[in-house]
Amino acid sequence: MPSNKSVSDAPIVQFINCRILREHTLQREDLWVREGKILDPLKLFFDEQGYADTRVDCEGSIVAPGFIDTQINGGYGVDFSLPSDDVDAGVSFVAKKILEHGVTSFCPTLVTSPPSVYHKVLPQIKAHSGGQHGAGVLGVHVEGPFISSEKKGAHLEKYLRSFQARGMADLMEAYGSLDNVTMVTLAPELAGSQSVVRELSSRGVTVSLGHSVANLSQAEEAVELGASFITHLFNAMLPFHHRDPGIVGLLTSDRIPAGRTVYYGMIADGIHTNPAALRIAHRAHPSGLVLVTDAITAMGLPPGRHTLGQQVIEIQGLHAYVAGLTPLVSVSLALFLSFPDLKALIWCSGTTTLSGSIATMDMCVRHFKQASGCRVEEALEAASLHPAQLLGISQTKGKLDYGADADLVLLDDDLNVKSTFISGEKVWTRTP
Ligand code: ZN
Repeated sequence: MPSNKSVSDAPIVQFINCRILREHTLQREDLWVREGKILDPLKLFFDEQGYADTRVDCEGSIVAPGFIDTQINGGYGVDFSLPSDDVDAGVSFVAKKILEHGVTSFCPTLVTSPPSVYHKVLPQIKAHSGGQHGAGVLGVHVEGPFISSEKKGAHLEKYLRSFQARGMADLMEAYGSLDNVTMVTLAPELAGSQSVVRELSSRGVTVSLGHSVANLSQAEEAVELGASFITHLFNAMLPFHHRDPGIVGLLTSDRIPAGRTVYYGMIADGIHTNPAALRIAHRAHPSGLVLVTDAITAMGLPPGRHTLGQQVIEIQGLHAYVAGLTPLVSVSLALFLSFPDLKALIWCSGTTTLSGSIATMDMCVRHFKQASGCRVEEALEAASLHPAQLLGISQTKGKLDYGADADLVLLDDDLNVKSTFISGEKVWTRTP
């Protein structure tokens, strides 16, 4: 006989009238939650004779696992890479705002910076759970500075570094500490990178390949040593060539060790990646696709003019550009933007500039579905299950299995976010 003493008497919430994403399909089932975790209703009924204390009527919504953004540089006027004594305030501000886009956890991302910035910023961004205060922080994604100067994109050349034959010691000199780091993007063709890839992987830090001119063989070697992700596929890497497909070739490589999956980030905002390229990647390797926003400071700001640091930025639609440019220039920027190596084109231009992505995660999910023609379930899993698997946290995140965290996003049939829950608690809802 089960002892009722061992059973929690915490309130039970039953989500009714919903379609739950579970086992890769939308299922008409209720969802039961207690103490922030998803309950097995059969166990509840038969072992505990339990019942719901409260009900949430989902009104026919799709209920998906909360979205996870593994690459976001900032937003709403905040740049995570700007050193200050209160970086956490900026991270918290963005964490709160992205709830409305269905994001329940994320990896604040730092672009290539001098060691002094890493030493100041990294210790301040600690992993923590989400809640009313905002989306959870899963650790920092450090993009650079060990990347290729040929594919530096938005990253400032003067801060790029190589491994000076000391491997991890060079990396630790730059970062100071790996305590809050969950992912590192590096270029695997850099001399000395092999030992770093091996060491980071063995410490549980996800290694991502990007901003790189690596050939396929170098990329495959890095994967064999533990690398498991590709940073914004197609952008800032060699274009696909049939005799040497470069990093892109990892999607169909036969040198991926058994039981391993290589995941790849895609910025599906309709600007960074041509829909045909998106379809090629998805059809070649659907289970590895991870949607990322790669959002910058201007993401989330309303249309119009904004002062960001030393610049005045004007936002129109999904384009952000330096104020003062004419609409005609904006159109040409939009054309530029459809090239694969977007950031190199834009950021390197310096004065004409502009920004990387200002798309939000829910936008990327909608666009990915529409551009790829994939099923609703696939679009949602690319923003939830796959990033959780990539980070090795799919026991608790990215799934709605029994025992998982009740981080939920409720969506209408067009995949617009209606409300967001973290640990079973409503943290954002659309006002009618
Ligand atoms: Zn990048």
